[in-house]
Amino acid sequence: GRAFAHPVCAAVEVLGKGAALSLASGRADDWFDSDGQMTKRPMRALTLSALAPRPFEHLWDIGGGSGSIGIEWLLSHPSVTATAIEPRADRAGRIKHNAARLGVDRLEVIEGPAPQALPGLKRPDVVFVGGGLTAELLGWLVKHLSADTRIVANAVTLESEALLSAAQQRLGGDLLRIELAHSAPLGAKRGWKSSYPVVQWSVTL
Ligand code: SAH
Repeated sequence: GRAFAHPVCAAVEVLGKGAALSLASGRADDWFDSDGQMTKRPMRALTLSALAPRPFEHLWDIGGGSGSIGIEWLLSHPSVTATAIEPRADRAGRIKHNAARLGVDRLEVIEGPAPQALPGLKRPDVVFVGGGLTAELLGWLVKHLSADTRIVANAVTLESEALLSAAQQRLGGDLLRIELAHSAPLGAKRGWKSSYPVVQWSVTL
């Protein structure tokens, strides 16, 4: 083996060639159990970059799904905290399972829809909206969260994209349109298989 002085390197020496979790956000999808509703690796990496976790910050992951966003937030630093909000009981359970499996069982999971489930929660520094995006939800966030809260929202449908377009006109921030394509078999050859474009709005209140 290689001789490195750092304790993390020593741990890797011990772990050997077994499965090791990447140190970078955008970890492989198969680290997360899901029913298919999950922000996939490249989009998750871009989203974590936009969320930009800093020490001691608290995240709301609205539309937790599999929990992958909240979990990668927590993996970024031991001092950060997160609450996932997810109305479906099966998914809320899966979020807890995934968090425990990856060593971040400090992820708080609230079973219920936003914005109804939000009052009473510890106020966030950063909010991710990965599901449940409505005018009502955006209105609630803007009304109740303090200035300099950061919001990142991902939209796939034309309807939610229209909400984000209107929100940027009102509140500023950046809109990013992300179009990804993967190589896939096309007859005997290969072609680019496009994913739905995602519009991502990032704003500081
Ligand atoms: N970012 C997630 C995937 C989100 S899929 C991941 O990486 O796993 C969108 C999720 O939003 C679904 O799980 C859906 O149940 C949830 N959702 C739908 N309406 C919601 C609402 N009003 N409040 C919170 N979550 C909601």
